[in-house]
Amino acid sequence: MEFEFVCGCCGAECVAFAERGGFWNNRFYLDTFWCWNCGEENTTPPGPWTPAYED
Ligand SMILES: [Zn+2]
Repeated sequence: MEFEFVCGCCGAECVAFAERGGFWNNRFYLDTFWCWNCGEENTTPPGPWTPAYED
């Protein structure tokens, strides 16, 4: 599932894919994402995250 994150360096909105996992398969795992705009590697913030789209 993809989530929206805001780059802490330049403020651009980034979309990153997080793996689903955990006992109930309802947790998402993503440690870092790369900003498409400035190339900075960001640590994902604490949840809840914003889904990139509804499905
Ligand atoms: Zn950036």
